Amino acid sequence: MDTRSYDVIVAGAGVVGSAVAYGLVRHGLRVLVLDGADGDLRAAKANFGLVWVQGKGFGQPAYQQLTRRSAALWPAFARDLTADSGIELDYRAEGGIHFCVGQAQWEQRAAKLARMTEELPGEESCSEMLDRGQLQRLFPKVRFGPEVSGASYGRMDGDVNPLRLLAALQRSLQVRGARLRTSSPASRIEPLAGGGFSVHVGKQRFEAARVVVAAGLGSSALGPMVGLDVPLRPQRGQLLVTERLAPMLPLPASGLRQTAEGTVMIGVTQEDVGFDLTTTTAAAAHMSRQAARIWPALGQAQLVRHWSCLRVMTPDGYPVYAESAACPGAWIALCHSGITLAAFHAGPLAAAFAQARIPDELQIFHHGRFNVPQTA
Ligand SMILES: Cc1cc2nc3c(=O)[nH]c(=O)nc-3n(C[C@H](O)[C@H](O)[C@H](O)COP(=O)(O)OP(=O)(O)OC[C@H]3O[C@@H](n4cnc5c(N)ncnc54)[C@H](O)[C@@H]3O)c2cc1C
Repeated sequence: MDTRSYDVIVAGAGVVGSAVAYGLVRHGLRVLVLDGADGDLRAAKANFGLVWVQGKGFGQPAYQQLTRRSAALWPAFARDLTADSGIELDYRAEGGIHFCVGQAQWEQRAAKLARMTEELPGEESCSEMLDRGQLQRLFPKVRFGPEVSGASYGRMDGDVNPLRLLAALQRSLQVRGARLRTSSPASRIEPLAGGGFSVHVGKQRFEAARVVVAAGLGSSALGPMVGLDVPLRPQRGQLLVTERLAPMLPLPASGLRQTAEGTVMIGVTQEDVGFDLTTTTAAAAHMSRQAARIWPALGQAQLVRHWSCLRVMTPDGYPVYAESAACPGAWIALCHSGITLAAFHAGPLAAAFAQARIPDELQIFHHGRFNVPQTA
């Protein structure tokens, strides 16, 4: 048994667990982070890198608000992370674009964003519609396809290098005094008779007053051990990456983003195929066709990578933040937009966990909404 004493053990060092752990250690807590096996699914290492607000939370204003809140926290969060880790994140917060192909798509997008604004009375809209001419002025180096009718522009949107983000979180939490153990999957979590929890990693055992389950899709196995049964499903996302090109895209777009290195990421699919990680030519063809409709010259670029990864999806697609009723002191944090929400996870969510109280406005994200009987 590790005889060091910890206040909190975080199971999972993806972008969610690492952000929560970074926040907890900044609150002065003694934190141990356990990460999984080499072959684990890691959405944190295979995503598109958008910090995205526009269009998120249609029909669920609380999620819209959460996303806005995180985006607003991102600039300071990025500065702190770089200061702690010495790692530049390639974070941009100059807005983002959602392209519309055809007039009907433009009108549907305008109507959807207008309805979303109505869902948050009293709050300013964070997006506006651009016609083709306005879009062209934002992207002077791109000759758009003839079908491009315009776009929506989200002023709170941005992007980041997700691998640098993860590395910065993991380095920063250690710089601040947390302990990170890689290749250490938690195999069992047990509530202790006098309070607190014992977490087993093979034959090793660690103890802490509290645990946070933040193991992405691995949470389905861990949560029920402490009364946190959350139904999760994987959703496959595939994306393509081109060779490096001269800087052409000054803003990120959903489905098309040029990285600081010059490669262009093209994506992403949303496929319900269970745990199948295959990359398919059908998806590659579909994504390439879509991208070429927007920016025909991209068809000349060499594709250098094609990968797939699995999103962590709850039944309604919204996050889960909760404390176990059966085992107080056990918490869970799950979501499918861990890059966008990283600033919220490291800030207000970690503060709530540190104070052992989930504020009222987050109760809507309790998994009790799925009506799943909880085991102890
Ligand atoms: C193709 C694609 C594109 C995406 N694009 C975006 C985007 O643009 N913007 C955005 O905000 N989000 C995006 N996402 C979502 C984002 O990547 C995820 O929300 C995020 O990575 C989830 O983080 P996580 O830490 O919950 O899970 P993961 O990143 O999957 O990490 C889970 C971690 O838990 C560990 N683990 C598992 N079991 C155990 C155990 N028993 N004990 C200890 N550790 C364990 C694993 O080893 C792993 O490190 C995208 C996802 C995909 C698939």
